[in-house]
Amino acid sequence: MASIPEDTIVCTGHYDEGGDFLGFSTVSSSGVEGWSPRNIPPDAPGENPDLAISIEIVVRNPNNKQSAKQAAQRLITAISRIRAKLSENPNKFVIIKGTIFTTAQILTSLENTQWTVSDRPPSEYKNEGVGSSNYDPNGTNADEINFEGILGYAHPNYPDDEGMSALVLHELAHLTEGGYNFFVQNYTKWQSEPAAHRGDFYPSDYSRNVEAFANDLMHAMSAEISLDVEYPAGQLVTPGGYTGPVDPQQIYNTHSSGW
Ligand SMILES: [Zn+2]
Repeated sequence: MASIPEDTIVCTGHYDEGGDFLGFSTVSSSGVEGWSPRNIPPDAPGENPDLAISIEIVVRNPNNKQSAKQAAQRLITAISRIRAKLSENPNKFVIIKGTIFTTAQILTSLENTQWTVSDRPPSEYKNEGVGSSNYDPNGTNADEINFEGILGYAHPNYPDDEGMSALVLHELAHLTEGGYNFFVQNYTKWQSEPAAHRGDFYPSDYSRNVEAFANDLMHAMSAEISLDVEYPAGQLVTPGGYTGPVDPQQIYNTHSSGW
């Protein structure tokens, strides 16, 4: 069987010294592919390389390349907007399940994340979602999102790009220390259930609890930084029978009463 064709492209958003967005460039193994969706004017001010956002695009099917690039550009635009909102509100914080999350922490998570847009089908992600996030306390966080998932959130049905704002802030919630700790608490509690009863972690009340936590943090922080978000109806994940997020012990207690 022939190997799966795969093309890696890097889509980068560029900013001037004042932090204003200049445009995108995309580069593949064949070299610079050019600027889109608009050209950088010849008299553009000097760029600030510290502000550049790069997104890796990995597609197996060459037919997905153009759409994946569009998705990457939408993602850069949303990340750029959220970075600006966080920077404008440096002293805001929210408390989720007793843990403080500051705008500075979310900003640090944003700067410390390598984003990837892929055409990996959602069936290959463990969590029923459109991507996967990996918090790394000692290195670079990784967040991969399926291009069709992004284009769904980027749909014009969402006013003011609110679907994309929700998506990016939700992912950033997973990529904080507190978000990761809540995942570990839930995973550990799931592991403590008898093997005969616990089933898979994905999906479980525990994994849904982790999603509910990310949604709560996303909604609370968006209110603090005056960023409108809209999450798709029916996808506001709460663990079965609970108003989430809840202490994982509560899930354990409910489960154990049925053993
Ligand atoms: Zn999530």
